[in-house]
Amino acid sequence: MSEVLTVDGLADQLSNYLDTPRINQVRRAYFYAEQAHEGQKRRSGEPYVTHPLAVASILAELRLDHQSLMAAMLHDVIEDTGIPKDALSEQFGDEVAELVDGVSKLTQIEFRTRAEAQAENFQKMTLAMAKDIRVILVKLADRLHNMRTLGPLPYEKRQRIANETLDIYAPIANRLGMHSLCTELEDLGFSSLYPMRSKYISKAVAKLRGSHQEIIEEIRGKLQQKLEDRGLPGRIVGREKHLNSIYNKMKFRQKSFHEIMDVYAFRIISDTEDNCYRILGAVHSMYKPLPGRFKDYIAMPKANGYQSLHTTLFGMHVNIEIQIRTEDMDQIANNGIAAHWMYKSDQSSLVEVNQKRIDRWVKGLMEMRERADDSLEFIEHVKVDLFPDEIYVFTPRGKILELPAGATPVDFAYAIHTDIGNACVACRINRNLGSLSQPLQSGQTVEIITAPGARPNPAWLSFVVTGKARSSIRHALKYQQKAESLELGKALLKRSLNGFGKKLAELSEGQIEAVVRHNQMPSFDDLLSEIGLGNRMAYLVARQLVMGEDVTTPAADGEVVEAPGTDASGRHAVTIRGTEGLLVKFASCCKPIPGDPVVGIMDSGRGMVIHSDTCRKIPSDAAMKGLLTHLKWAKNITDEFSVELRVELERQRGIIAEVANAVAMADGNIERINVEEQNARLSIVSLVVHVNGRRHLARVMRRIRNIRAATHITRVRH
Ligand code: MN
Repeated sequence: MSEVLTVDGLADQLSNYLDTPRINQVRRAYFYAEQAHEGQKRRSGEPYVTHPLAVASILAELRLDHQSLMAAMLHDVIEDTGIPKDALSEQFGDEVAELVDGVSKLTQIEFRTRAEAQAENFQKMTLAMAKDIRVILVKLADRLHNMRTLGPLPYEKRQRIANETLDIYAPIANRLGMHSLCTELEDLGFSSLYPMRSKYISKAVAKLRGSHQEIIEEIRGKLQQKLEDRGLPGRIVGREKHLNSIYNKMKFRQKSFHEIMDVYAFRIISDTEDNCYRILGAVHSMYKPLPGRFKDYIAMPKANGYQSLHTTLFGMHVNIEIQIRTEDMDQIANNGIAAHWMYKSDQSSLVEVNQKRIDRWVKGLMEMRERADDSLEFIEHVKVDLFPDEIYVFTPRGKILELPAGATPVDFAYAIHTDIGNACVACRINRNLGSLSQPLQSGQTVEIITAPGARPNPAWLSFVVTGKARSSIRHALKYQQKAESLELGKALLKRSLNGFGKKLAELSEGQIEAVVRHNQMPSFDDLLSEIGLGNRMAYLVARQLVMGEDVTTPAADGEVVEAPGTDASGRHAVTIRGTEGLLVKFASCCKPIPGDPVVGIMDSGRGMVIHSDTCRKIPSDAAMKGLLTHLKWAKNITDEFSVELRVELERQRGIIAEVANAVAMADGNIERINVEEQNARLSIVSLVVHVNGRRHLARVMRRIRNIRAATHITRVRH
């Protein structure tokens, strides 16, 4: 493309396959871009708009539809000129605006590292982020033109772009079956990364081509003659090896330059599938095929839809590689997915038809997958684009994680490490605080905030989507419940033993073992857990331990036994820590706080509920059934507990704010504030406040009482 490209030149090119109204829309997009980029220049000194124009022209060679071309014209407008997407929607319709927006988003991804696994994920993320495959096509054309015009950029920038092209964009082109574009990207990337090596190889290729010219012409002539003899239509093309692929073969397969180049490669393009097979027969009758080298990709297409017959012949003392295919197959071999978007002028509703064609293509690939048993990598990757069921998100350090669609920050945390998942308490999404249950989206950066001693929340099970998160949470909860029930069971048993004037340490192993066996438990720990869970009564087990198992009648669940009198005195009360766990719950009726006299009621299988000892919700026969446990609070509890307060206030403006302020001044946290009743003179406000104990509560209440308008305040217990 040495001649200067103009919009009129492009319009000429488009008139081969687009109608005038569509061409005019493309023109309009051009003029819009020209104005938007007014005053901006490329490094080469040319006006900026020459770049989008060239990108559109690359897509025109692929005969893409007018919307792709318009998006190509406008692809840098959002990013470089600050014109919003809405403005493009208004001017050119939603679809074009979406395409431009998609390209801008891809432009914004920073490809920070080039570790191989990362590159792979970047490729997938790029595909996943583009809802419309045309976004990728525009982006690839953009990259191709940038690579063609890398020259004037500073060395470092050139290197970065070349690396990115080889790591991300060329493989994407390859995945989409766009081989012509892929090899051009690779060769351009290779020659800007390794200018000396590339010069050396291309010189050597040119030299060799000269000396091989004769034999190439001779083979071509013989092939041509053979086709004519048999009356088979076919165009014979010589195939050139690409610089990058020669270099890679030398480097990775340890082949010498001459080994690689001593192969003569031709392609024969014919009209029908049948004729391809006839041509195959014809060339096999000319020279002997090498065993094991024949491949029938027409009957068994490759995963990316590639079809062709491949064979290698031995003739004229050299190996001759031959590919045979139809024009259509050749189109797909060169342009891959773009060939399916190619505009055919006889079609009226283009987008719909193309979508149908793409769908058919994907369906075809799916069917192929069932037939072929090798893993069809390509379809995996096209799938993420056309059936987006995976997302790709960043860690704060720029690592990419692949997660199923719908995954939440909790899934993300567990994907990093089980310990991170178990200890996570909050998250930041793109540096802002986010909710742990909010589904993530491709391209987001997620940071997990952990706290030492934090534990998984059973509620997470309702929103996580990954198996790893689910099973880790279940595992942690189970482990936690086991530990808690063991601890609680031990405390309850010790207290009951105290009632008999015994200590756990004084019991012999034989005594313990006999009781474990009597209760048909696998171990003493299991027996303690059962007590903690409320499935066995501590009093009965204690009695068995002290008196010997044969003294007691078998301890059936729910058996009525009188609790020893010492319990009621509270002298041997069980100490509870403040933390509400799986097995210790604070009753919501009386909302006990540290300092309140409390009792625990065993709830079979579910542990203990802690009530204030005056609570009316305590079953009257609980003590008789041995379900009641006297408790005392541990010292130095720092957890927060909710209490409910009822405050009567004289009505005046701003009074609620004054109450809230009073609570805050006493370091209390308001969970809920409600105006319950109100008349002309008085308001009755219900407050739920977090405090760490009775002293703290007293401080809060004093502050509220100090409000002049507060006439009455009480703690509420239901
Ligand atoms: Mn661009």
